[in-house]
Amino acid sequence: MTTLEGIVLKERTVGEQDKFIDVLTKEKGLIELSVRGARKINGTSSSSTQLFAYSKFCYNESKGKFHLNSSEPIHIFYELRKSLTAISLASYFADILRFSTASLTDSGNVLRLFLNTLHFLENGQRSEAMLKSVFELRLMAETGFMPDILCCRSCGCFEPQELYFSLTDYCFRCSECSHGDENSFKLTISELSAIRHIVLADFNRLFNFRLSDESLCRLSGFSELYILSQLERNFYTLDFYKSLIGK
Ligand SMILES: [Zn+2]
Repeated sequence: MTTLEGIVLKERTVGEQDKFIDVLTKEKGLIELSVRGARKINGTSSSSTQLFAYSKFCYNESKGKFHLNSSEPIHIFYELRKSLTAISLASYFADILRFSTASLTDSGNVLRLFLNTLHFLENGQRSEAMLKSVFELRLMAETGFMPDILCCRSCGCFEPQELYFSLTDYCFRCSECSHGDENSFKLTISELSAIRHIVLADFNRLFNFRLSDESLCRLSGFSELYILSQLERNFYTLDFYKSLIGK
């Protein structure tokens, strides 16, 4: 019997009574647990295996499959359900996580990033545009897709007032060096500083930075292009979220 803490990223019902849940854990990365009689159980066991429940899971392993024995909720993120945009954004985050952590074994930082992001999404203390940018860019940095944000690739300028981030070679060039690269995203120095903060800051300072609403919106556009380009795919949950906020 093994006991691990983790957060439910997806539920799939099987037959009349059972379901599978995808759980992101710190120690084992992403695991699939089969939950017998999921529709019959109620109370804490039921709430602890629902979407976005952060719980303690006790399970048996047999023939490479994991079977849930018992579970206990730690935090349910119940308030997320009060906002359609918040729950939709969280579903998009869960989708990216399932895709990008499938082969990750040490998921400590990624799990912490997700829990911290959901915490702010739930209490509304940070804008959704900010949380989306932070989650997308930091997740990429934590899973081996760190953008090159050191200096202009061509002339070495560290703080150009205006720059173009190339989505071909994932680095930036100042406006003098970029020579009209069509597959690039224009950013200001304050947006570059925010990106540097997001990919490099300690977790306890990660969500503490200020940027104008206009810049946050552009940053969210940039981080989205960056992640979709690196992962080479789209997410239906992202399209749905964007249809809700009218983007
Ligand atoms: Zn340059």
